[in-house]
Amino acid sequence: MTMDRKSADLLAPGLFQAVQQAWGRKPKLLIVDDQPVNIQALYQIFASDCQVFMATSGEQALQLCQERQPDLVLLDVQMPGMDGYEVCRRIQADARLREIPVIFVTAHTDAQQETHGLGLGAVDFIAKPFTPAVVRARVRTHLTLKCQSDALRELAFLDGLTGVHNRRFFDERFQAEFQRARRNGRSLALMMVDVDYFKRFNDEYGHLAGDDCLRRVAECLRNLLRRPPDLMCRFGGEEFACVLPETELDGAVQVADRMIATVQTLAIPHKHAAQGGVVSVSIGLAACFPALGGSPEKLLAKADEQLYAAKAAGRARVSATAC
Ligand SMILES: [Mg+2]
Repeated sequence: MTMDRKSADLLAPGLFQAVQQAWGRKPKLLIVDDQPVNIQALYQIFASDCQVFMATSGEQALQLCQERQPDLVLLDVQMPGMDGYEVCRRIQADARLREIPVIFVTAHTDAQQETHGLGLGAVDFIAKPFTPAVVRARVRTHLTLKCQSDALRELAFLDGLTGVHNRRFFDERFQAEFQRARRNGRSLALMMVDVDYFKRFNDEYGHLAGDDCLRRVAECLRNLLRRPPDLMCRFGGEEFACVLPETELDGAVQVADRMIATVQTLAIPHKHAAQGGVVSVSIGLAACFPALGGSPEKLLAKADEQLYAAKAAGRARVSATAC
């Protein structure tokens, strides 16, 4: 059999290089079929470019989805017990799994079945017996789309100006961290960080200089939060919020003091500064044990109160309370 250049390319290794580069790892592929011989055939097509997981039943497929979070599922329709349609329905119904694209691989395709499968949320259909180059091309297309939608989702949670997380991300994660601290019986600290006299800075130096100032302060604050669960976001305007899980008041005050000192060492000139002719920040801090009561809203209100206290006391300082 002769093959034209383009189909040969689709079989060459390196087909998934672009997504591999974007993710910094090989794509994770889950192959589901009750017939091991079918799994074997698909496995050989992808073994060199993907990290391949295999399941021979619907139940096993769902379990692997949970444990491995594959980037794409090739799913047989006809299986004893839970069939492919049901697996697809359950993937779509699970918030943690629903972004995983599903491609049905089936011997019996007719328009009605295809419509049914696509209606359940599958992204494509591949007919058995399949042509390796076609399977690879379709998988590449859907991995590329998955990669792009991952990037968009990530972007939707970033602040365009400073590159740190945005308010939307904060709203989601703060609630989740509060609940987690409640379950674990651990302390949770929240800081509201405000750039002092920022309006006067903008009036004096212009908005472009103001943007640059916010970017530098944001980067500085982020570098001081080194633990993976720490969360920092632009809360709005010149205000940033930092969530420190498993942190009690004393520890959080130390972090806040370091933030205040480090922002001043950036030495961004500010004619109307609170102190020393350079940009500074004020920090309101509140820490609590969610297991003892309270709510995310109350903790936020307490941190806000402390921010006003820090400003009233002369700015460029932290004011803190346990609650
Ligand atoms: Mg089957």
